[in-house]
Amino acid sequence: MSTPSKDLSYFEGNIIPAQNAKLSIQTHALQYGTSVFGGIRGYYNSDKKNLYVFRIKDHFKRLINSTKIMQLQFTKSPAELEEITIELLKQCGYHQNVYVRPIIYTSSLQLSPRFHDVPTEIGIYVLKLNDYLDTENGLTTCISSWRRIDDTTIPTMSKTSGGYVNSALAKSEAIQNGFDEAIFLDSKGLVSEGSAENIFIVRNGKIITPSLESSILEGITRRTIFELAKELGIDYEERSIARSELYIADEIFFSGTGVQVAWVKSVDKRIIADGKIGPISKKLQDLYFNVVKGNNQKFMHWLTPIY
Ligand code: PMP
Repeated sequence: MSTPSKDLSYFEGNIIPAQNAKLSIQTHALQYGTSVFGGIRGYYNSDKKNLYVFRIKDHFKRLINSTKIMQLQFTKSPAELEEITIELLKQCGYHQNVYVRPIIYTSSLQLSPRFHDVPTEIGIYVLKLNDYLDTENGLTTCISSWRRIDDTTIPTMSKTSGGYVNSALAKSEAIQNGFDEAIFLDSKGLVSEGSAENIFIVRNGKIITPSLESSILEGITRRTIFELAKELGIDYEERSIARSELYIADEIFFSGTGVQVAWVKSVDKRIIADGKIGPISKKLQDLYFNVVKGNNQKFMHWLTPIY
C-alpha cells in the first residue's frame, strides 16, 4: 500500500495544509485583480510509477515575465519556484494527474489600484485534475460576442487575474447558449483564442495559428505543438485568421495546459469538415499525450520527475 497523499499548499513561505492557506478579504489583489498566475500539469505514469511535471521551467519563466510586464515586485527566480514546487509535490505524494497553480498576488491590505510599491506573496496549490474539456468527442464552439481584451488594454502576454474577467464573460455566454467553449475575435475582428486556450486551424495539410499580434497568451502548449508538428513533418504558420476561415477549415483544435489538445466539432453550428477528428489533430493529440505522460524518450527533457 502506498502512503496516502496530502493536500498541501505553499503559502507565505511555508508548505502547510491546504485548508490553512487563507487570505484576508482586504487583500489588495482580491479588490483589483492585480495578481499573475500559472497553470502547470503533472501526469502520473503508473508503469513508471512517477509523476512528470510538463515544461516546469517554461511555465515559471512565463510567470516571472508576467510580473515584469505588470511591474509586480517579486524577487524569487524561476529556479527557486521550480525547487519549491518539486518539494511541494513530493510532500503531497500524489499518484494521479495534477494541476499546479502558482499565483503571485499583491498581498497588502491597502487601497489604490496599482502595481508599483505594493508588496507581493506567492501561493502555490495543487489540484487533482484529469480532462478539463472533452478531448475525445469534439467540442462545440461559438464566436463570443465579447472581444478579446487588446494587448494595449490589459497585456495579454501576461497571465493577469483581472484579464480573466474577459474569459469568464465569454465562457459563461458560451455555456449558457449551449456550447462547450467560446472563440474570441480580437479588437480588429480577427480570430484570437479560446477563453483559456490557443486555437489552431488546419488548411491544406498545414496548421495555422494566430500570431502574437492577435492579443493571445503565448501558450506553452502552442509552442509544444510547433515542436511536435516539426517532429511529424507537418508545416505550421503563425498568421492572422479571418472568422470565416474557421467555418471552412479542414480541422480545428485547441491547445493549452488545461485543455491539452482538444478538437473542435463545430463553430457557430457549422460542422467542421465531416464532424470527426481530423488526421492531423489526431496525430498531434496522440503524440502530445505520449510526450506528456513520459512515454516518448525524445521529449523527456520537457519532463521533471517528482519521485
Ligand atoms: N490562452 C489563455 C487565455 C490561457 O489562459 C491559456 C492557459 N494558460 C492558454 C492560452 C494556453 O496556454 P498554455 O499552453 O501555456 O497553458
